[in-house]
This record gives sequence, structure tokens and C-alpha cells, in this order.
Amino acid sequence: MKKVLYAIIPVVFILLLAASCDKDPQIVPADDIPSYATGEKQGNITYQLLIYSFADSDGDGIGDFNGIRNHLDYLDALGVSALWLSPAHPADSYHGYDVTDYAALNPKYGTEADFKALIDAAHAKGIKIYMDYVLNHTGKGHPWFSEALADESSPYREWFLICDNPSSGWRNFPMLNGYSYNSGEWHSATSGAPRITISATSEPVTTGSASWNIWTWIPGQNGKEISFVDDGGGNYHIVLEINGKQGLLLRRDHSWDAGSKFGASAGEFTITEGTSVSLVAEGGDMFFTGSGRYRINLTNVETKTVYYMGAFGSWMPDINYGDVSAAESNACFMTLASSVDKWVGMGIDGLRLDAVKHICGGMNSFNNASNVTFLGKWYDRCNATYRKTHSDDFYMVAEVWMDAKSVAPYYKSLPACFEFDFWERLKWVLNQRTGCYFCKDLTGYRQMYSAVRSGAIAATKLTNHDETRAATILGRDSAKLKQAAAFLLSAEGQPYIYQGEELGYWGKDSDDGGRDELVRTPIVWESASGAATGDLGGHIDYELLKDDISVKNQQEDAGSLLHTYYKWTRARNSCKALAAGTMSAHSIYNDSNTAFGSIAAWYMTASGGEKALVLHNVGTESKTLDLSGDKLDNQVVSLGEVKVSGSSVTLGASSSVVFMQ
Ligand code: MG
Repeated sequence: MKKVLYAIIPVVFILLLAASCDKDPQIVPADDIPSYATGEKQGNITYQLLIYSFADSDGDGIGDFNGIRNHLDYLDALGVSALWLSPAHPADSYHGYDVTDYAALNPKYGTEADFKALIDAAHAKGIKIYMDYVLNHTGKGHPWFSEALADESSPYREWFLICDNPSSGWRNFPMLNGYSYNSGEWHSATSGAPRITISATSEPVTTGSASWNIWTWIPGQNGKEISFVDDGGGNYHIVLEINGKQGLLLRRDHSWDAGSKFGASAGEFTITEGTSVSLVAEGGDMFFTGSGRYRINLTNVETKTVYYMGAFGSWMPDINYGDVSAAESNACFMTLASSVDKWVGMGIDGLRLDAVKHICGGMNSFNNASNVTFLGKWYDRCNATYRKTHSDDFYMVAEVWMDAKSVAPYYKSLPACFEFDFWERLKWVLNQRTGCYFCKDLTGYRQMYSAVRSGAIAATKLTNHDETRAATILGRDSAKLKQAAAFLLSAEGQPYIYQGEELGYWGKDSDDGGRDELVRTPIVWESASGAATGDLGGHIDYELLKDDISVKNQQEDAGSLLHTYYKWTRARNSCKALAAGTMSAHSIYNDSNTAFGSIAAWYMTASGGEKALVLHNVGTESKTLDLSGDKLDNQVVSLGEVKVSGSSVTLGASSSVVFMQ
């Protein structure tokens, strides 16, 4: 979920060259599009994919599981070994972060069979599948929430943070320990359902059998079951939720035309809250005796106003896990975990967890220690299921949208967290053209992580679906975009590539005066006409939907940004030092050598001793480096102009190179 914690560097750069049509004069020979044998991708590169806008297979304009499956070759060529799918569950929004059923899949995306087929086909290409799980909140449309509001005695009442007076009532929720009350995070709702009382006007009502059910027909809710309740004293009622004007038909039997039916007469078919209406017994019946007319008296006597917490908005009610020190026995926790069991059983390989810092607390006031406790229990529960059928551990990466120091404690519970500081530093490096501090900054972050967890995975990235696009931040400067890829794929960590980033997609999100949809643009495969635009409500920068930026066009252009990604992902996948190495500073070109401030240099050393030297020049002028202590005879990959002469290397503007040591 989106949260602004960083000031975005103002974009003052003017687009000079579109990424797709830039022709680098130092272009390498045209590469073939890569392909990989099973198990050949050791780079741990993940692709963040938006199901709704990646690829549409059935012509409805909405991306789907089969669309992804149809384009696995593309993802394979990009060297990715995992996909982070946007939420796949049913939801009311297009983006899916307001889940209404964790144990089901959004029918817009396909069936469970389609999902299984995607998992199997991806696995056949050495690509894992990570599902996006939203634990902080559900959608307002989730039946758990509806039932929690409708009935104070419902067990689901405890699954949400609902109270009469939140300014003091929040203190009664153990998982809000440490929270600072913010009235904007609490939303009013009507609790309880209007009661409809059926009573005879001319004839007494007899109930027949108290065990009988009455079935209703309500437009849009065909077949909804309700119970007929004997209140005693000759009063009977049914309970159903009334939302505005609805027709009502009472029947004895669920099947159409079976049994006797009672309904409002034609002129009275619409009932309105607070009014009464007469029912007509159709043909008479033993149930409502006689031929009298029966009144429905709709009252609000059982409703009241309550407040629920929804830090991300009223449409996303926060989940209540109770005392997180016992979260593993919390009913909602167990139900959510059971839903994960289902997907693990289907073959998924991991989870991406949304907005975890907000689980215990609100938007700006949260309890990191409680979150870490909760997440440890969550990870252990999910991993236990996974380990029943796997010899390795379950993968789980969390969105902890904070600086590296604040993220570090979360590694106590989780193997991987996104490193938002990676991009914060890198965009500064590229826009300020100062690389000498980059290695020191990153190694400092990693030391904080490894102090908490051996083998902590820094999930590195440029931008994601909640941020202004990297291309916009970098002024749509083709050379910078290519070098951003080179940094991402030559640094320590496990990199994520966000859908469209490899194509140079730009866009401002809502925090920067744009719209979130504008950073979630569909992939244009061959032509814009087939793009999965259907779920974005027309909020699309149509300059991005032109054929010249299409995948096909960029695949055919060896100088495209896409081919830069091909080259550097292939380098990372084939070089263990890049794939699994630990960063360390170069002895000459480092943070103390500001005379070479445009140079970012480091070693990547893998556990087996394999070592690579990584060099980047982010400046606008070429730099010649004396590298007499390094080996320069085995070049892995390069970007831009790189010349080796004896023991020196000349790096042209915006150039990068990797040498094996
Ligand atoms: Mg579709």
C-alpha cells in the first residue's frame, strides 16, 4: 500500500530521447533474445506483475492468468525466476487490495484451473509464483465485515476494530497498544440490521413449524436465505439487510415456483426503510392462514452507529488480530493462514505481504515490535505448511515502507523485506551524478540487516505500483534508465523489476499530482489495440500505448532499454558473484575519493570465492581509472563506452562494466 515517506526529488529534466528510440552509438552487437535452461537462472530476479494490466487472453480487456501464461517466454527471456502477482483474490477495486475472499480467485482473472496451469507452466520455466497477501485490512465488501456490522453477536465482530466511541474505545484493542488516536482513521457505520416484523392485519398468523425457513427474493440477491423467528406472544420476524429500495418476495421453498409465495402486491412492491407494506398471500396457504394481508413493519430499533478502524480509508477496514502475542490462536489469523494453505497446496512458492508496518497500529502511528511479533507467527505458520512438502523454506517478502534502519528489525521474523532506500539512494546517485557514496550506503544497510538475521535478503527495486515511475524521476533520460538497470542488477540483494520498467514506462502517481493508474499502465505487446486497458477506467497516458514502445519494437532494437535489461539480467543469472555476492568497497574508488565522485565501484564476492569488480560512471564526462590491482581481462557485461588499456579503464559518460577477478 502506498505511503509517502520520502520527498520526491523534483523532476526538472526534460525528455530528449524516448527510451524506445534511443540509439546508443556504443551499442553492443545485437543480442539474441535470451533463453534459459531449467535451473540456469541463479540471479534471483523477480518481476512485479499487475494481473489486471499485464496481458489479456480472452479479449475482455482485463489481464488474466492465461494472459500471463501466454507470455512466460517474455518473462523467461528477461531472466526472472519469480513473479510477484498483484492480489489475485476477489475485490471491489481494480487493484485488488480490498480483498473480499482470501480463499478464492477473482473471476475476472480466470478460474482456479487457469491459476494452477499458470503455476505449473511457470515452474516448468524455473519461475516461481508469489501471491500478494493483504493482512492489514480486508475490503469493506468482505462478508466477514458485513456480518460483523450486521450482528453484534457475530463471531466476525471480533475480527475488526469496531467500537462505539473510538476516541477512548481504541484502548480496548490489545493490538493497538502504542497507537495514537487519529479520528481520520475511524469511520462510522450502521450496526445491526433493520427488523421486519410480520403481523396479521385481518387474520392471525400461524407459524406452522418453527423450523421452517422463509426464502426471499431480493433483486440482485436471489436465493438469500433468512430465518423466520418466533418472538413469542404472536410476533414473528425475519431479519435481512435492507439497502434502499428493494422488492421482497417471501416463499416457503428455495426452488422457484415451489411452495407458496407471499409478496408485496404490484403497487407495493418496493419497500422503503421506515415504512410498512402489505403482503399478499398468493393462493392461500397453510403457512399464513387465511387470505389476509400481512404487514411488514420495518424499524430501526436494532441499529446503532458504531465506528471501525480503516487506516487506508473507509473501504478497507483494518483486521483485529487481538493480542498479537497469541496471534497464532486468533480465529481470523487461522482462517487467513488456512487460505494460504490452499494456495501452497496449489503450488505457490511465496508471499509478498502488503503494508505490514500498519498491521498493529494506524497509518502514522504503529508498533514495530508488535508487528515483528505478529509476522514471526505468520511466517512460522505458513512455513510449517510449506515444509510439509518442500525441503527449503517458504519465501516471504514484506513491504515495510521505511528507511533501512527501521526495516532491519523486521528481519527477525521474515527472510526478505523491500529495501526502499535502495531507490532513494540510486535516484540521487543518477540525478546528482555522484556515485562514490553508493557502496558505503548500501553496505551500511546490509550490515544492519545481517546483524538481525544471517542471510537476510534485501529485496532491491527501483519503483513499484505505488510510486512515481523511475523513468519520470530520471527525466526520461535513456542513459540514466539504462544505468539504473545496471545498478539494480549488479548490486547485492535480490532485485525486483516492476512491470513496464524494462520498457521505460513513465508516469506520476497520486502523491505527485498524477494518478495511481498512470503508473500501472498495460504492457503493449505488439500493438496498443490488444493492451489490457479495461480495468483502468481510461486513466492511461496514451503516449505509452504507442506501437513504437511495444515489446515487439524493443525486442527488435538492440539499442533499446529492454535489451539493456536482457544483457544485465543474463549477466546476473550467469555470474555467481553478481547473483549471490556480498558488496565491498574498492580500495581506491570509494566514498573518500571525491575526485572521482562520479564513480561507483565495488566488489561482489560470492561464498565460494568467486569475485567480480563492478564499475559505474554516472557522470557526463569520461573517467580513466588506474586499476593496476584488479584483473581486467574477463569482462562480464558492459553499458556504454568502456575501454581497457593495460591496467587502466576509461569509462565514458553513463557507462558501466563488470570484470571477473
Ligand atoms: Mg481477460
